[in-house]
Amino acid sequence: AKAQGSGRWDAHRPGSSDPGAERLVLLEQLRAAVRDGELRVHYQPRQHLPSGTLSGVEALVRWQHPTRGLLQPAEFIDAAEESGVIRDLGAWVLTEAVEQAVRWDAAGGLPGLQMAVNLSARQLADPGLVPRVAGTLARAGLRASRLVLEITETALMSDPEAALATLQELRALGVLLAVDDFGTGYSSFTYLKQFPVDELKIDRSFVTGMTTDAGDRAIVASCVHLAHAMGLVAVAEGVETAAERDALRALGCDQAQGYFFSRPVPPSEVPVPGVVVPA
Ligand code: C2E
Ligand code: CA
Ligand code: CA
Ligand code: CA
Repeated sequence: AKAQGSGRWDAHRPGSSDPGAERLVLLEQLRAAVRDGELRVHYQPRQHLPSGTLSGVEALVRWQHPTRGLLQPAEFIDAAEESGVIRDLGAWVLTEAVEQAVRWDAAGGLPGLQMAVNLSARQLADPGLVPRVAGTLARAGLRASRLVLEITETALMSDPEAALATLQELRALGVLLAVDDFGTGYSSFTYLKQFPVDELKIDRSFVTGMTTDAGDRAIVASCVHLAHAMGLVAVAEGVETAAERDALRALGCDQAQGYFFSRPVPPSEVPVPGVVVPA
């Protein structure tokens, strides 16, 4: 299945294909990639803002394509979601991330480090999800409270009643739950109040504008207040400057991640306290 060479991406030559055929080629390759070990997980550090220390990492999938190089999720995650390949891809990422947390522990790393993994709408709706999460944690021997599952507001609101039931089952396992891209979807407070979540992740679009736009700053401040009023941890994503970090700190935001601290990197490059990086 590892066919290489120029013929493989003929469908990509400008003007040589229709997008439907190109997509089928991509999907077929992605299925094979999950099987053949071409996926990678990069990790983006997350910082505890008051202390400036590492609080956890977010697992972000990459595809080490044999001819096209390292592909970002934007190039394949939507196709994976629409086709259902996300089921196997997501199961692989979950296992890899949980095992990586255990490897860091074994290497002497910070014991409480949180491992955040993204779940799509389709993964959330999969009846196999809860047993898979439970089985993955049990096989690896990771305490459930070390795992944070990030679910976008949009995914949660596509079928809120079903989402609520699944979140309750995940919560019963002891995993933590985060509402991702908060502020970009259409959650009603009625649902937000019922969802048993632990964190709100404030969307990057508001964080990006907060030092120049009074409206964005007000939105970020409201999200932090809302999170705290509901007993949730406020996390900001997409922090790119010291000014944004300082503004978030001043607002009392608990945690932050973004290029200012670190880009997503391979596991060997994550500065986990206690873990000695081989030279
Ligand atoms: P997300 O969950 O919102 O993840 C954050 C994205 O923002 C990541 O892009 C990250 O690299 C990027 N980012 C982080 N800090 C900054 C910053 O300071 N500035 C800017 N401009 N960008 C920043 P990435 O890795 O390309 O992932 C894109 C999306 O793909 C993710 O958005 C998530 O929705 C999805 N995704 C990634 N990995 C997985 C996965 O394993 N499973 C599922 N279901 N979805 C995934
Ligand atoms: Ca996320
Ligand atoms: Ca996000
Ligand atoms: Ca986002």
